[in-house]
Amino acid sequence: MLKIENYIGGELTAPISEKYLDNFNPAVGEVYSLIPDSDERDVEFAVEAAGKAFPIWSKMSAETRHDYLMRIVRLIERDLDLLAEAESVDNGKPKSLAKAVDIPRAVSNFKFYATAAMHFSSEAHETVGQAINYTLRQPLGVVGCISPWNLPLYLFTWKIAPALAAGCCVVAKPSEITPMTAYLLSKLCIEAGLPEGVLNIVHGLGAKAGSAIVAHKNVKAISFTGGTKTGQDIARIAAPMFKKLSLELGGKNPNIIFADCNYEEMLKTTVLSSFSNQGQICLCGSRIFVERPLYERFKTDFVERVSQLKIGDPLESETNVGAVVSKSHLEKVLSYVDLAREENGKILLGGKIAKLEGRCKHGYFIEPTIIENLAFDCRTNQEEIFGAVVSIQPFDTETEVLRYANSTEYGLSATVWTENLSRAHRVAEKLESGIIWINCWLLRDLRTPFGGMKQSGVGREGGFEALKFFTEEKNVCIKIN
Ligand code: NAD
Repeated sequence: MLKIENYIGGELTAPISEKYLDNFNPAVGEVYSLIPDSDERDVEFAVEAAGKAFPIWSKMSAETRHDYLMRIVRLIERDLDLLAEAESVDNGKPKSLAKAVDIPRAVSNFKFYATAAMHFSSEAHETVGQAINYTLRQPLGVVGCISPWNLPLYLFTWKIAPALAAGCCVVAKPSEITPMTAYLLSKLCIEAGLPEGVLNIVHGLGAKAGSAIVAHKNVKAISFTGGTKTGQDIARIAAPMFKKLSLELGGKNPNIIFADCNYEEMLKTTVLSSFSNQGQICLCGSRIFVERPLYERFKTDFVERVSQLKIGDPLESETNVGAVVSKSHLEKVLSYVDLAREENGKILLGGKIAKLEGRCKHGYFIEPTIIENLAFDCRTNQEEIFGAVVSIQPFDTETEVLRYANSTEYGLSATVWTENLSRAHRVAEKLESGIIWINCWLLRDLRTPFGGMKQSGVGREGGFEALKFFTEEKNVCIKIN
């Protein structure tokens, strides 16, 4: 069986413990590879290697760093199909989705930050008649990047690329649930000739390898994407050490549909924003609020459209809904369907395990689920499910729907459907979410600030924000008289 290896100091290495964890293919429900069960000793080596590489990497010109990152880009592009298949097997998502979204986005992340570093500049402030101040932005040193399982290579590279571009050296940990494409990336980094120690990838459990990265005194910053509870655990360790922290956490996003919307566009997009990647995208809209005059029409059409989605083998091109990432996640999602029933929810569609034939007969599949008749403040509508489960609910006024939308402790993203421009601005201004889409969903421009409010996180990724995060600002004041 394939043994995934750590990537430390430019080499692929076994964990010091020589222990491995099982890695499942969720579509077939079987172990298909082994993951290093790394611990603080592996992290120590990785931090050391990164520390050694830092003086050279940080002093290279932005253009030289750009050239290295672009070599990695070309290799990811070359291996697009292979990486998409690996992502699909590891995560359960349809290969077509990995090929259209996950892997191309990994390419874009590296391209975007390879070039951004060359355009990154700092300010000068003239204190007229007295002094000139200028800002130095210096790479922090060794930084930690920790990512989740839902968009594995996509989110892993979203952190690593700006860190490397800014001149930092990285110790990164992908999710132990989906380690494969990070492993394949480490091989591509070796092929690209990335200098040893610049990027180190340590595989293993969050509570062991992950927390060792967070607690290491020589790791200057942590860029983390994952659950809110894990974000709290990380902050508890990192905050007293005064590490820089970027935390991209959970969500419970509202999708607000006004009766004057472009109906067909809204319907088509709402199917995607609800169920893409089996609902396992932090930006999926899981609470759908529909203005009352449109409610019954929407309900009928939405149930009809969603029932047409094909649940199937993720490797087949016509599959729309693949497997859920793990058995325990499947159980978690189904437990919320049970909770919804207890909370008087009416299951309009789905709510059960989907049984497949053949190769996938033991895989983890759930029917896309639509629930109505839930109170806006019940647990099903307040807690993050992170699966293919949405609730629909009518509303009468803007004030009422804003109250519903803003009622959760999360504030990641929101979608609004209306053709009324003034209303769109008004509602966007009042929504407590870091990202608001009007008449669209997941339309991304990598220059924009990305992140959440409230329990959805601290800090913003994207654009120059990420380069600023991975650098320390220093003001130099020169007296001129
Ligand atoms: P998770 O918090 O369980 O794990 C995320 C990563 O953190 C994994 O690599 C894990 O090994 C590591 N980890 C776990 N415990 C740790 C610890 N104590 N110290 C250091 N590292 C630790 O999250 P998950 O289940 O992998 O991902 C799902 C969550 O991620 C959802 O809540 C989802 O909303 C969130 N998410 C947020 C965004 C965003 O941009 N805001 C994007 C994607 C996913």
